[in-house]
Amino acid sequence: MPDGKVLQLPSTHLLGQNFAKPFDVKFLNEKGEYEYCYQTCYGPAISRIYAAIISAHGDDGGLVMPFALAPVQVMVVPIPKKGNEEMVIAKAKSIAAMLCGAGMRAEVDASDSTPGYKYNWWEMKGVPFRVEVGAREAESGIFPVARRDNKVKSQIKESELSTFILAESVKMFSDMKKKAQDAFDATLSSADTMAVLASGLEKGKLVATPFCSMEMDGEKCAESVKEKTGGNVRGTRFDKSEKPHGNCIVCGKTATAIVYIARQY
Ligand SMILES: [Zn+2]
Repeated sequence: MPDGKVLQLPSTHLLGQNFAKPFDVKFLNEKGEYEYCYQTCYGPAISRIYAAIISAHGDDGGLVMPFALAPVQVMVVPIPKKGNEEMVIAKAKSIAAMLCGAGMRAEVDASDSTPGYKYNWWEMKGVPFRVEVGAREAESGIFPVARRDNKVKSQIKESELSTFILAESVKMFSDMKKKAQDAFDATLSSADTMAVLASGLEKGKLVATPFCSMEMDGEKCAESVKEKTGGNVRGTRFDKSEKPHGNCIVCGKTATAIVYIARQY
């Protein structure tokens, strides 16, 4: 997470017979006898995944939702003036219908709030794109399209709105991903001593550290890290292989892994 703390996502647990007994879940074994089941469970932690998205991508204006996940992908905001309300709202509706026809989730905010209020409201909700529709735009056939993540506004011809937004949504995804990756990389640091590790954790870093063992042998050292620094040994990276070097930061044995240590929620 942006503050350097780690959020635990999916987890697996060996439940043994702990739940089978109170719920009386049995199976017939090969000897023809009933036995309590042995169970495992796996949780993908969907709500935590959403929390991570909110935390990683949000900004001071509120949520920034990735296009594919946003419940509303494009909000069309009419900007009516006295006397042209009907025409402007009808135009906004026809643009939303066109975008829906191109496979997007588009809506019109025809409520009584001011356009400025609606802009802020839908920005806070993380809607990826906003199309503004006033009388001037309806007449010229050119509409401002605002992108949520970088706040860039483009002037787009009506006939090109769908292709523009769809193409821009792909760029938005890669820009958001890069920004999050850069922020993640900025939280990384490394340590060869407990003192450096402790100060890294204090600064909200995810600290790469030589460690004796990822097997049960390393458990004591992991407990010692937790006790002395409040950091948890989170494991090794799966997105790249890192050659271990030096000695375990706790026990001094030859390191067999580079582990990442961080505080966690
Ligand atoms: Zn060790």
